[in-house]
Amino acid sequence: MHTFSSYKTITDTLEESLLLSIRFFLFAGAIFLFFYVWKKRKYWHLKIQQRFPGKEYILREIRYSFYTVFIFGIVLAFVAWATKERWTLIYYPIDKYGWGYYVFSVILMIFIHDAYFYWTHRMLHWKPLFKHVHLVHHLSLNPTPFSSYAFHPVEAVVEIGIIPVLIFTVPYHVSAIWIFSGYTLVMNVMGHMGYEFFPKGFASHKIFKWHNTATNHNMHHRFVKCNYGLYFNIWDRLLNTNHPRYEEIYEEVIAQRSSKILETIEAATAKAGDDEMEAETAIELNR
Ligand SMILES: [Zn+2]
Ligand SMILES: [Zn+2]
Repeated sequence: MHTFSSYKTITDTLEESLLLSIRFFLFAGAIFLFFYVWKKRKYWHLKIQQRFPGKEYILREIRYSFYTVFIFGIVLAFVAWATKERWTLIYYPIDKYGWGYYVFSVILMIFIHDAYFYWTHRMLHWKPLFKHVHLVHHLSLNPTPFSSYAFHPVEAVVEIGIIPVLIFTVPYHVSAIWIFSGYTLVMNVMGHMGYEFFPKGFASHKIFKWHNTATNHNMHHRFVKCNYGLYFNIWDRLLNTNHPRYEEIYEEVIAQRSSKILETIEAATAKAGDDEMEAETAIELNR
């Protein structure tokens, strides 16, 4: 039997936090550098809110993200210890339940997490919790990739709480949990990066409308009391908590995106008579 010694707990926590920090800051940092620094002008037309937040604003998000990954590390160190003690349902090898179950378990995790997120998120919007806890996340009115983990420490506990919920209730292979965590990270950063990539008509399409968009969560940060969902738009639709103008605003974002491309091409073409070379550069810069 392994003892849950305090020394081991501290080193496990630090190790987990370090791994999570590397993963999060490398991914969110790369997206940030690409869209907010390097290709800022090129992809400006895809930006949902047509302005960039200041340095102080971004540094605040990074500071809170550090607290979040540290808390995630504590919980995951506990989970690793509980698994060694065989208290969780994590199984090995994959053959134990077969590949069919393996794939099903990943999909199941995503749907359980989607429901967990929606309902805990609704709870965090309860006035006293909102004021003292969830407000930290909502100070990001114009989300960036670093908003994804910018949580009050209590909210960080709620967010990572999905892992114990999953591993104590349903059997998962350890690698299925890694796939799920990777998916969560990517979707979370995409939902906060401030850019919309999905095509025209996506938010009102009869099938795709059930999937969430970056615009949907961006609107949650702007308007607050609406759009609580994570991966899907199922709960918000069923419970009528989407912003009444969600689909309309989505189309406005897409129209703004198209008109910026058109403006750029028109401007470049007009200039082409005077200086063909310059026009080509403009299109290239704004493509
Ligand atoms: Zn919220
Ligand atoms: Zn958010």
